[in-house]
Amino acid sequence: MTEEYSDPWAAEAIRRVRADGPHHTPTPLRRLSLPAVRGIDIYLKDESAHPTGSMKYRLVRAMFTEALASGALTEGTPVVAATSGAVAVAGARFARLLGLAFTAVVPAGTPVRALAGIEEEGGRWQRGELPPAAVQDEARAVAGRLGAHFLDHFTDAGRAVAACGEPTIADEVFEQLSGEPHPVPEWIVTGAGTGATSAVVGRHLRAHGHPTRLAVVDPENSAYFPAWASGCDDYTTGMPSRIPGIGRPRTEPGFRPALIDLVIPVPDAASVAAMRWLRTAGTEAGPATGTNLWGTCHLAARMHEAGARGSIVTLIGDSADPYLETHLDPSWVRARGLDPAPHEAVIERFARTGHWPARQGSG
Ligand SMILES: *Cc1c(COP(=O)(O)O)cnc(C)c1O
Repeated sequence: MTEEYSDPWAAEAIRRVRADGPHHTPTPLRRLSLPAVRGIDIYLKDESAHPTGSMKYRLVRAMFTEALASGALTEGTPVVAATSGAVAVAGARFARLLGLAFTAVVPAGTPVRALAGIEEEGGRWQRGELPPAAVQDEARAVAGRLGAHFLDHFTDAGRAVAACGEPTIADEVFEQLSGEPHPVPEWIVTGAGTGATSAVVGRHLRAHGHPTRLAVVDPENSAYFPAWASGCDDYTTGMPSRIPGIGRPRTEPGFRPALIDLVIPVPDAASVAAMRWLRTAGTEAGPATGTNLWGTCHLAARMHEAGARGSIVTLIGDSADPYLETHLDPSWVRARGLDPAPHEAVIERFARTGHWPARQGSG
């Protein structure tokens, strides 16, 4: 007797998910040219190169693979997610790839324009009726009614990345750095949304015994910096972040403060300034990449001051396209009371001289 796959559909589905995208792995590692800090090499891992333009593609791919492998997602099962953001866009893409219906439950105030990405990938959306903070619970209830699989990125993303058996972002970075002048970086700098990426990187550093330190950059209104600084791991601010993808009103279960060496609070105006500066330097990226860059420059300036050499790796978390009418539009920025000009001056001066002010921004 020959063995049969217990679920041939799932085996084929996993194959399809893994094969998605023309250039799905590894994403490029780009070098940022900053002659003022000679001997300090800054790299940007370009996660906007994923088919949906965001690092969330990687997390969602792992979540689909893991849900299929564990039998949680089977033929004909609809998929539900609780966000209007990049998780929903990637979720819609993988659901369509597998012939499954996809619904994003989105916060009540989400503008229709922001939902185009979900529709382009063949997904549907419905507005939540409760306050935005309740959208997770509401989506879970919708999934229950539909008999759907709930794509719970805040709870499951980190575990799925660890379990799915694909090379992680950290595996890729260390592989890509081998052969570079400083193959073991001094710092890796990430933002935290679900917390999965920083946790995956932190675990990799420990498991491989690397001396590399892990810094998380955190925007205004987020619970992560105060939670890390105070050691209070159920800290909440109740306020939404203005930097899409990062910063949370509460500490999410995937955030692992014990793996993080430093959390750098970054003013939102500084994130916008750094995103704009990166654009003039020829790299298009979203505001969370600006946050990453601000923290990275700050650490590079410290190293420069101390006469140290080495490398720092950070991420391009998503592309600039979704932000042309928001963070890249000066009137949108002004209407939110944000003034990037003084921060732009800081980053321009840093790029010219390697100098960072002693007490400004992330000080
Ligand atoms: C989600 C996201 C992050 C943070 O990643 P997590 O693994 O969810 O913590 C950073 N940048 C962007 C652009 C994101 O969308």
